[in-house]
Amino acid sequence: MNQVVVIGAGQMGNGIAHVFAQSGYIVTLVDVRQESLDRALTIIDKNLDRQVTKGSITEEDKKATLKHLNVSTHLQSAASKADLIVEAATENIDLKLKIFAELDQFAPAHCILASNTSSISITRIAAATARPHQVIGMHFMNPVPVMKLVEVIRGYSTSDEVTATILDLSKKLGKVPVEVNDLPGFVANKILMPMINEAIYTLYEGTAGVEEIDTVMKLGMAHPMGPLRLADFIGLDTCLSILRVLHEGFGNPKYAPCPLLVNMVTAKKLGDKTGEGFYNYADPKNPVVAPFFKR
Ligand code: NAD
Repeated sequence: MNQVVVIGAGQMGNGIAHVFAQSGYIVTLVDVRQESLDRALTIIDKNLDRQVTKGSITEEDKKATLKHLNVSTHLQSAASKADLIVEAATENIDLKLKIFAELDQFAPAHCILASNTSSISITRIAAATARPHQVIGMHFMNPVPVMKLVEVIRGYSTSDEVTATILDLSKKLGKVPVEVNDLPGFVANKILMPMINEAIYTLYEGTAGVEEIDTVMKLGMAHPMGPLRLADFIGLDTCLSILRVLHEGFGNPKYAPCPLLVNMVTAKKLGDKTGEGFYNYADPKNPVVAPFFKR
């Protein structure tokens, strides 16, 4: 396995491309928007500089990583040479089904198709292809170059061989893979999202303010980030999509997204990526509580 294609150059896609390129794979990062690709290259460059400054890689390693990295807006030509494709496009079921149907047409027969989806059924994504045994979940954590975990999700039809290949590959990337079954939210988000949703309900019901809720969870539970800050970091649109998958998948009202979250996504207050969510990021190093929550 040598040629890797990463689809979607958002916050996850740029991190996944970075980690594969740093491990010596030839990577093509694909996005429909050229500006996403340009931004991804700038971010990868900055993150590599940070690693050089910390001494975890050398200037030579940085150069080699960038040499392994290509970008493209042409899915078909990139996919036609791939040994592995990791899809990290927007968390939307119809979009992912369309992408996987196309990948099945364009990618060589031996190519493994992985999705970085946070919650969408791998079995359902696999059913959009004629190679469901070669479709698997490879769920990296954010920020990808820093976080060790990869949740490896076996769809209903994923073969033992493909699962073993992806577990082994994750280790080659310096990650710790954990194999899980394909049920809504898998493990990480089945547990994390209800906590985030509950924090949003706690704010919505007026129990406490944004900073107070985050401080309780940081200092009281030793979480590195409070749940509202974490929701902004993940992206509120992604949080809402995951909660909807849990709600629909289990048919249990306990997963119903808080109306405040729905309003914020409708108002395009998506967190870090749009400059405002529960916090305002006009100065990204010093986020302050968003004006809406000071009213
Ligand atoms: P994002 O919004 O930052 O980026 C999504 C990117 O996909 C955008 O650049 C967009 O232009 C691109 N895109 C949309 N349609 C496309 C298409 N047809 N072909 C190619 N590119 C396309 O989203 P993100 O936070 O990077 O999330 C991406 C995936 O990773 C989602 O499935 C999400 O659930 C999952 N994920 C997110 C996190 C997180 O913390 N944000 C963590 C783990 C997994």
